[in-house]
Amino acid sequence: MVDFNLDDCIRKVPDFPRKGILFYDITSILSSPIAYKYCIDKMVELYKNKGIDAVAAIEARGFLFAASFAYCLNIPIIPIRKKGKLPGVTLSKKYALEYGQAEIEVHRSDVPKGKRVLLTDDLIATGGTLNAARSILIEGGAEVPGIFGIVGLPFLDYEKILEPTPVTTLINYHSE
Ligand code: AMP
Repeated sequence: MVDFNLDDCIRKVPDFPRKGILFYDITSILSSPIAYKYCIDKMVELYKNKGIDAVAAIEARGFLFAASFAYCLNIPIIPIRKKGKLPGVTLSKKYALEYGQAEIEVHRSDVPKGKRVLLTDDLIATGGTLNAARSILIEGGAEVPGIFGIVGLPFLDYEKILEPTPVTTLINYHSE
């Protein structure tokens, strides 16, 4: 694997989607095959010998990394989606956003009982979405031995809400 400065491939967009937020845009990773390959290779290196049975990912940017990772490890993908998108029987969880509420869902039949599911997203901010996702995976009978994000914003304290699950990121930023 080439030694690589991932920071160079993450676009920073001030005041998006609203004033005061610095948006860390991972589409600039997707448009760089070297950067994208670096991310997937790192994920594989981190988790290939960890007994991971499946990967769960949050709609929509999380899918873009989890799919290639799942292909490399030959494991199933568990899509976690916004409410109302999945046609089968679901497990769902409401959670608080800065303003208002959101709800995510997973197909109950996708959650493998007693299996080790790595939970992933592109970026971990407050950790609220991943916390809700973890709870529906556990409700469905899976274990969640780790949480992974390409980008982490640890100043938003996601480690507290996500403990005791170990959280791994490829790059962290310390302000917004
Ligand atoms: P959270 O539940 O707070 O961890 O964040 C939920 C989602 O919002 C993550 O999946 C990110 O894709 C997105 N997000 C939150 N804050 C940012 C940010 N500063 N830059 C880019 N994406 C963000």
